[in-house]
Amino acid sequence: MDRFNQLNFTNSFASLPEKFYSHVTPALLKNSHLVAFNSSAARLLDIETDETNAAELLPYLSGERVQKNSKPIAMLYSGHQFGGYSPQLGDGRAMMLGEVTNKAGEKWELQLKGSGQTPYSRGADGRAVLRSTIREYLCSEAMHALGIPTTRALSITGSDEEVYREDIEKGAMLLRMAPSHVRFGSFEIFYHRQQFNELQTLADYLIEHHYTKLQEIAEPHERYLALFEEVMTRTAHLISQWQQVGFAHGVMNTDNMSILGLTLDYGPYGFMDEYDAGFICNHSDHYGRYAFDQQPDIGLWNLSRLAQAMLPLFDEDPKIAAEKANALIPKYREIFKAHYLNGMRAKLGLTVVHDDDERLIEELLEMMQQSSIDFTNLFRSLSNFNPNHLENNNFLRDQFIDRERYEQWAKLYAHRLITEGRDSATRRTEMNGINPKYVLRNHLVQHAIKLAEKSNYLEIQRLHEILSNPYSEQTLPSYYAAPPPEGSERVVVSCSS
Ligand code: AMP
Ligand code: MG
Repeated sequence: MDRFNQLNFTNSFASLPEKFYSHVTPALLKNSHLVAFNSSAARLLDIETDETNAAELLPYLSGERVQKNSKPIAMLYSGHQFGGYSPQLGDGRAMMLGEVTNKAGEKWELQLKGSGQTPYSRGADGRAVLRSTIREYLCSEAMHALGIPTTRALSITGSDEEVYREDIEKGAMLLRMAPSHVRFGSFEIFYHRQQFNELQTLADYLIEHHYTKLQEIAEPHERYLALFEEVMTRTAHLISQWQQVGFAHGVMNTDNMSILGLTLDYGPYGFMDEYDAGFICNHSDHYGRYAFDQQPDIGLWNLSRLAQAMLPLFDEDPKIAAEKANALIPKYREIFKAHYLNGMRAKLGLTVVHDDDERLIEELLEMMQQSSIDFTNLFRSLSNFNPNHLENNNFLRDQFIDRERYEQWAKLYAHRLITEGRDSATRRTEMNGINPKYVLRNHLVQHAIKLAEKSNYLEIQRLHEILSNPYSEQTLPSYYAAPPPEGSERVVVSCSS
């Protein structure tokens, strides 16, 4: 407990003018208790505590005791939600406790989610339910282990507090961490309020603390444009990584888009089981705005909203500012495509760039869609493909309905592998380090939630451990790497959390 108390909190965001946030105080939950504690995230704060001793930290993890040098704040932002502008959002149920700089010099903001109302709650209760904190905790750690930029999760605090959603559920708090929780919407609010000085203050803050290399650019307009370009590149890379593991975020509103290119605000997300390009994981997304195959384009749409909000920073003359932004934005598609193709090539075990790559990848995905094949397992099994003896690949062939189409594809694929002439053992090892065996399938997290709702938290810990090594073969029941069992109820997730 002492070590947590001795954390050296700084409050750089809270030293910005008060227009950027409101001071808040966490509201406690009834009968708080520890549900999960992540010792690897704790290590990022230089805290060496395992799950068994972590209960001592409860007063801090539950917002009961606030560090003496912590100044809890709720951050202000707005955002485009499902295409329409919401002029006032902000942390309605999250409170930033402060920032910790670890021995390695990394800065981590600690944010408590579900800690009660803030001036931005807009009439909602400021709470999070146990179900949604488990979903965020497990998925952020699973994404991290997959090598995908994300906020991290330190702990879940459960309680006996009744929280009203479609049903009565139990309130919980998540303590999450990120170098910064600033969102696209943090810029948008000041643009739409015509408070352009604040835009500059925010950009300067980000450059000083998170994009320090940009300080070398002496000319301010160029520097701010470079900031936008950097956010654009990170966003393109992030979404490309989502596409490569079959992850759909579910609510890609601009207030959920991280300025650092992190996966942020886990709600009704989903990893696909069988491949479906049009996969919609959010039950409330009736028109499929955030369907899996829309994510790259939505990334561009969201970046266009950010560019618009940053226009006053690009030039005093609005026409020139718009020209600069318009010259930059089309680069997004190139950056995305190059990163995506590189990643997908690696998933196929290919290293040499070839004109037909896109076709080879698309054809495989289309065949997978036609035959409803499990996304994760198919890519995992590809490392066993034998390019020299196509007759040995029945494990693959048998999954496809259209055998002829498969045979043609397999011939092309084999030809590519043979032409590259790489040693097959090395290729196999590399492919298994890229194509995960374990992802957080919805039925897995759902099972952990059901047990947790009966106060059994072991499955959370177990899933966390399994998903911390998504690329290793682990001795486990096949359930953990399998699609949902035949006839099992389809899990429906919506924005309610
Ligand atoms: P989301 O799309 O879940 O990230 O939330 C959109 C906005 O609604 C954010 O400003 C949240 O802080 C706010 N919000 C969501 N749920 C609640 C809640 N239970 N109480 C207060 N604010 C909330
Ligand atoms: Mg949000």
